[in-house]
Amino acid sequence: MTNAMEIYQMLPKTNCKKCGKTSCMAFAVALMTRELTPDACLPLKEEPKYKDSYEKISSLFKPSEGATETGLIVHEDLCFGCGNCVVACPVNVANDPYGVGSGNAPKNTSKLILAIEEGIVKARNVDECRRFGKNKILCNGCIVTCPVEAIEFV
Ligand code: SF4
Ligand code: SF4
Ligand code: SF4
Repeated sequence: MTNAMEIYQMLPKTNCKKCGKTSCMAFAVALMTRELTPDACLPLKEEPKYKDSYEKISSLFKPSEGATETGLIVHEDLCFGCGNCVVACPVNVANDPYGVGSGNAPKNTSKLILAIEEGIVKARNVDECRRFGKNKILCNGCIVTCPVEAIEFV
């Protein structure tokens, strides 16, 4: 896996701030956490002299097939709908402390990440996941509680 310094080396290194970050290094970190995409650096995207770097960086951050925009993959062929991941996810717990899928309790489903539908888990609102964005932490609640390794991050 490429690190932030290697990404930085391919950026314009002008610290122009057009991407909304204070420096190209901060932008490199934002790419690594998937807070931003390569297209947010306009000079990289638009200036011919950066064409090769743009293509290289874009290919590095291209979502894998089957993955959501945050890299989460649910292997639906493995999932048997046990619900472990659903109740282990701290974002789910924060939005539905009574237990997701219990059916009776009031819940703010608009912010749930994982929910069982027709016997298998479905991922949604993935940008709420704690592994991504500005305040990222290395959460792995859904991964470690799945008995069949049906959840993966790429
Ligand atoms: S827009 Fe691109 S060149 Fe400008 S600061 Fe951001 S990463 Fe650097
Ligand atoms: S990594 Fe954490 S926050 Fe993200 S879906 Fe899994 S349990 Fe939820
Ligand atoms: S813990 Fe694994 S098997 Fe159980 S619902 Fe989640 S993904 Fe499916």
